[in-house]
Amino acid sequence: MTKQPLIAFPGDKRFAFSIFDDTDVSTLDYIRPIYELLDRLGFRTTKSVWPLPYSGPSDYQGSDTLADPEYASYARHLQERGFEIAFHGARMESSARAEIIEAFEVYKQILGHYPMAYAAHGYNRDNLYWGIDRFRFRLWRWLYGTVGDGRDYPGEGHRMGSPFYWADLAERHLRYVRSFTYDNLNLWNVTSAIPYRTVGTRGVRAFFPSSDADNVEEFIELLSPARQAQLEREGGLAIVSTHFGKGFLRDGCVHPDVVEVLTRLSRRPGWFPPVSTLLDYVADAQGGIALLKGHELFRLEGLWFWHGIYRRLKRRTYEKTEVPYTQRARERYSGRPDEA
Ligand SMILES: [Zn+2]
Repeated sequence: MTKQPLIAFPGDKRFAFSIFDDTDVSTLDYIRPIYELLDRLGFRTTKSVWPLPYSGPSDYQGSDTLADPEYASYARHLQERGFEIAFHGARMESSARAEIIEAFEVYKQILGHYPMAYAAHGYNRDNLYWGIDRFRFRLWRWLYGTVGDGRDYPGEGHRMGSPFYWADLAERHLRYVRSFTYDNLNLWNVTSAIPYRTVGTRGVRAFFPSSDADNVEEFIELLSPARQAQLEREGGLAIVSTHFGKGFLRDGCVHPDVVEVLTRLSRRPGWFPPVSTLLDYVADAQGGIALLKGHELFRLEGLWFWHGIYRRLKRRTYEKTEVPYTQRARERYSGRPDEA
């Protein structure tokens, strides 16, 4: 059992909760009702974006990017209201260094500064410390290579000499990089070292773990009333990674069960800031970014496998209500000149 740090949250709040929304298959029309709901309920969470468009074949084709002026202006609008806009990589597919530089500049042009937080996307080759390179320990690297998801995409963003290298830019621009995901809502039950840094991961100033809810059904389950009550009772820290683009709407409105779990949560005495604000606060309260090494790091990496097995058993399918939206966007974009 991990010792739980005693941190008093601002405003005498009893626990902290935030969301990191990966932008996969998100379109403006699809996510707007969700963000309006979050806003109304007092949540100020983190939404990631892809700054650059991509016109080649991709499973994510039809997702909006900052190349769409309306979507870009909505991202700016969210930021003005206190949400955080984070970086999900340069675009939906792999990007070489020059494109990553361009992506940072596009982001800055639209949002006025560089992003603070980043999470790797899918199997992009520019991912930082991804695939087998997520692990510092040989045993876990071996296990991942053997029984992991078997795909040979390490991510080369941190490998100097690779055309996909950008770890130096990450170090300059970013404060937080997402690492492992777990099944616990209260991340302090996984580790007390949040955020943390590790030796041998140049370019990353600090990592943070998160709880995993791939789609709407998993989100509803992760935020069950019992889990919410436990989070509050334990005075915990929650950062949920999800895709608001995956099934969160029904007939054009936010899924009623999502409305219910979020409304319940909003009535609890929690602090609901964006991910980077939350991590800044916790790091400050603990006197800096914890250095994670040795047994504690070994355990954190190993726990990911354990939770991964459990998560696989709990994988939920969902109704893909986003498909007509991405379809429409695809048709709209295909009318444009090729930008690749
Ligand atoms: Zn993604």
